[in-house]
Amino acid sequence: MDENTCWWNIPLIEEIFLKVEVKVICSMVICPGGQQDEMIWAGTKHGLFTVSSAYHLAKSLAEEGKGSCSSEEGYGDVWRKIWAMKSPRVEQLFIWKACQNVLPTKGNLYRRRITGDPLCPLCEREEETPGHILWGCPSAQDVWLECSRSFEKNNSDEADFLHLFELLLGKLEEKEVQPFVAVARQLWYRRNSVVFEGVMHSPAAVIQRARDQLHAFEKMEQTHEKGTNTTIPDQLVTHWKKPPEGYVKLN
Ligand SMILES: [Zn+2]
Repeated sequence: MDENTCWWNIPLIEEIFLKVEVKVICSMVICPGGQQDEMIWAGTKHGLFTVSSAYHLAKSLAEEGKGSCSSEEGYGDVWRKIWAMKSPRVEQLFIWKACQNVLPTKGNLYRRRITGDPLCPLCEREEETPGHILWGCPSAQDVWLECSRSFEKNNSDEADFLHLFELLLGKLEEKEVQPFVAVARQLWYRRNSVVFEGVMHSPAAVIQRARDQLHAFEKMEQTHEKGTNTTIPDQLVTHWKKPPEGYVKLN
């Protein structure tokens, strides 16, 4: 820097650096006031370091590293699609938990020192993660292969369930996503019945349960749609009432 002009000493910079570097350096604005340099943390607005901002930064860097995420806002599109799915709330929640890796898999329990090993309770060969138990495990693949051709065609070795689900959302038709989620949830139930009851259900039984759940939901939706066309008698409509003084209402 040239202290007299408070600007870059361009001839000197051109002598030392490559052309592209010169361009980058000279595009940086120098503060004309001549204040002392200070350390600033770019992760917060006030420039001070906080642990939570470091956590968010690390998380966004990790997501950037995955590289193949299709939307600019990371996985925002996946979350939007999950909550817009025409599936029971319980299934939306389940798939959200699987994508967030917050299901009580053995991998997660092992990390929290609740269990002694992280291995899949079904194949006992790999760490149990949502990606493994719901997709990669041979026991899960048996179900997917029997399930439908479209899931079979989308065969992928993705270990990360969120990434896998994002890929599937891109490949599957909208009407195929709902059965996928229903089967995934039943796979988790089957895993639980092995762990807690020692019962292993066949692929056909898993698929049948998922179908039954889908039909029950469709039926409920149809009844609901019919119901919205009829008017509810006045005496059945309840309105919110303020609780008496000194009481609170809780949901
Ligand atoms: Zn396994």
